[in-house]
Amino acid sequence: MLEQTQSALRQNIRPAIAGLAVYHAGPTLQQVADRYGLQLSDLIKLDANELPYPMPPHAAAIISQGSLTRYPDAEARALRVALAGYTGVPVEQIIVGAGSDELLHLLCFLTLEAGDEVITCEPTFPVYALFAQQCGARVVALPRDEQFDIVPAHLLDAIGPHTRLIFLCSPNNPSGNPMPLDLFQQVLASGKLVVVDEAYIEFGGESAIPLLQHWPNLLVLRTFSKFFGLAGLRVGYGLVPTEIAEAFWRVKMPYNVNRAAQEAALAALQHDLPWLLERRDELVQERERLYAALAALPGIHPFPSQGNFLLARVEEPLEVALVVEGLARVGILVRRFPARRLADCFRLTIGTPEQNRCVLDACQKIAG
Ligand code: PMP
Repeated sequence: MLEQTQSALRQNIRPAIAGLAVYHAGPTLQQVADRYGLQLSDLIKLDANELPYPMPPHAAAIISQGSLTRYPDAEARALRVALAGYTGVPVEQIIVGAGSDELLHLLCFLTLEAGDEVITCEPTFPVYALFAQQCGARVVALPRDEQFDIVPAHLLDAIGPHTRLIFLCSPNNPSGNPMPLDLFQQVLASGKLVVVDEAYIEFGGESAIPLLQHWPNLLVLRTFSKFFGLAGLRVGYGLVPTEIAEAFWRVKMPYNVNRAAQEAALAALQHDLPWLLERRDELVQERERLYAALAALPGIHPFPSQGNFLLARVEEPLEVALVVEGLARVGILVRRFPARRLADCFRLTIGTPEQNRCVLDACQKIAG
């Protein structure tokens, strides 16, 4: 009887959702520490492309002062005005969400219907395909080339009458390579909605923002989770055509970005930029140093990256599982991927100079 009720209840779930896999963000830090007999303080977390430093000081200070008895500004006006100053894009074209994840989700919800097609260039951020499928759209997953660059002819040929959204990530997660602006323009010439995800743009690559004034079908998404170091607060923003912004206001949760998040993001923009830019410069320098040092090791082949992370392929005489396990044993967490093409790869977030020394030290021991 119970089983019958459960099965009847499942029939209420939309078919597009019933068949979906759950998005797993990986084990908790405590689970990892327990597994390797380590303390939480021993762990070096380089698996989620977060900022490895303490919070930006002004952003941190404001959170403890703010009153959370009150709802936040539903329109996040002060933050959007500051973002208009930061990006040079008019405030009416700026939307903010609980991470760029929420904006990706809402954009799919706003635009996709069963029968629509969404184009992604794989491997890339898996959430594009996940959200598109949730809305019943068909995902046209185009493979990138050996160096993870997009093959322009494949991309342009894939655009058809059913294409509703094209997701482009630059620099791309997890491969780190940026996309050239002239290819954006060729894709934009199709007239389809093009979402350019610039989650890592502060670390390298050329922003598509200057194209916004020429292409009304361009949407640029960004985040406070990477360069700004506020992943835990969940703030992302989108620079979108006014028509999309108008639709966004109709469907978004009334208080989608909480008060602490709005205040901290505003403080970071107003007061922490010099501090953040110094950290960014250090990370970029460390990225190049780590790239060269890893490339010199036998069996580890990093790909050039413009993000705050490196993707590395593990080749003979090493094996990826051994490298990742060897790193975990000394508390260093990196990311592996389920995709077949990335089965022999891991992604490493660039840490502080001290953390990177530990990574190199561990990799040298594993390799040698
Ligand atoms: N886009 C890309 C390419 C990402 O890597 C991430 C996070 N890993 C996001 C978007 C989502 O960022 P958030 O929701 O934290 O703003």
